[in-house]
Amino acid sequence: MERFILSLDEGTTSARAIIFDRESNVLSVGQYEFPQHYPKPGWVEHNPEEIWDAQFRAIKTALERAKIEPSQIAAIGVTNQRETTIVWDRSGKPLHNAIVWQCRRTAEMVEKIKREYGDVIKEKTGLVPDAYFSASKLKWLLDNVPGLREKAEKGDVLFGTVDTFLIYRLTGEHVTDYSNASRTMLFNIRRLEWDDELLEIFNIPEEVLPEVRESSEVYGYTKRELLGAEIPVSGNAGDQQAVLFGQAGFEAGMVKATYGTGSFILANTGKTVRYSNNLLTTIAWGLNGKITYALEGSVFITGAAVQWLRDGIRIIKSAPETEELARKLESNEGVYFVPAFVGLGAPYWDQFARGLIIGITRGTGREHLARATLEAIAYLTRDVVEEMERLVGIKELRVDGGATANDFLMEFQADILNRRVVRPVVKETTALGAAYLAGLAVDYWESLEEIRSLWKAERVFEPTMDEETRGRLYRGWKEAVKRAMGWAKVVGA
Ligand code: ADP
Repeated sequence: MERFILSLDEGTTSARAIIFDRESNVLSVGQYEFPQHYPKPGWVEHNPEEIWDAQFRAIKTALERAKIEPSQIAAIGVTNQRETTIVWDRSGKPLHNAIVWQCRRTAEMVEKIKREYGDVIKEKTGLVPDAYFSASKLKWLLDNVPGLREKAEKGDVLFGTVDTFLIYRLTGEHVTDYSNASRTMLFNIRRLEWDDELLEIFNIPEEVLPEVRESSEVYGYTKRELLGAEIPVSGNAGDQQAVLFGQAGFEAGMVKATYGTGSFILANTGKTVRYSNNLLTTIAWGLNGKITYALEGSVFITGAAVQWLRDGIRIIKSAPETEELARKLESNEGVYFVPAFVGLGAPYWDQFARGLIIGITRGTGREHLARATLEAIAYLTRDVVEEMERLVGIKELRVDGGATANDFLMEFQADILNRRVVRPVVKETTALGAAYLAGLAVDYWESLEEIRSLWKAERVFEPTMDEETRGRLYRGWKEAVKRAMGWAKVVGA
């Protein structure tokens, strides 16, 4: 009987289950949203039971749609929204809502810790201390949920990110992988262990921590009562790392960019830990006894700027319309748009920057704004890639996410980077990465070479812009960014 791989892609707003065949085609998808809880301004929670419920229903739906039996699943891979923090007891019962990566409740706590230990934390974890990562969220839970710390010290509390929670529910094993561990801000990415000094700084009892395993190995088997079959769970990686793997970005210098609401850019740096002040250093995966590292940069607003054209100032009806408009012009005619709606992320890190449109004349119309928006997405990506380039030679950019449907954007991206931009056939790259990791562990796929041959480009965009034009356009962008920076301070907003 033909066998398949089931990939669980647990995101921030929905849980998906996707079934892949041996050629890595998508057979079926199940997807359910789960509620977001906002108990106070700036606080974001998920109910772990609601995540589990959505995830389990997604699995059932995917199996039904594919018309296959659970026994035909050769292995399960897991990928997840990273950093989101859950505590539960040995029966699997959550002891509080999950604190989501977006939640800012520990911002002040982290500011204090950062002042004293910022450099130590960066050196050990590769991360710039922020409320975003799990450490301070876990400390908050231990300090604020009545009785939790006592229970934890007795060994009755299990902590994990969502991957760990799902794998615990599926198999009863308390494990995570290197890529997820590297986002907790408690894991030493060089020594590859939970770091005693960091555990002390955040006052975390070691008993709560999961075992850290490779990203591709059998962690356990699904409990029979769940699906009627004991299926190996054998792949795990954080979502952005899973994309890099799903894009077959196996060698140093491979870069992936995911263009959604914002953009996430990851560069494989191979076996070397590389540091940049303006980027995060993270573990891409642990595989066959080796760790692969990555540099990561995130841009807060990219696709969201297109949404703003549609829903905010309503100069377009749909996102694809931007392409048609942009193509009406030969050039941007000096109009730039810096969509710094919520400040600027990597590599600028200016929380006071605000959006700016500059270069407007009497002749400026909506086609200019559309073009400037798409160009901005490409410039913002170049800003990050350029920072990466100082640390690792960049080969090509592999892209995915909603906005990659825009051919103008892809062409301009290749031009402004002066690098090949490659769009894959399978757009479900996050789930595919977890599937590849799971399949490798059970010899469903034999080697990275086999996976490399499965991964197929749908379209390759080669740069065609001359150097003078590229330089001039990009200089204009840098000037526009300068003018957008610090604006909230100027106006006291
Ligand atoms: P997310 O996972 O963050 O919700 P998606 O990967 O679904 O994002 O991508 C959606 C984003 O891509 C939206 O912000 C949307 O504005 C943008 N987008 C979708 N299609 C296009 C297009 N043809 N041109 C430009 N932007 C697009």
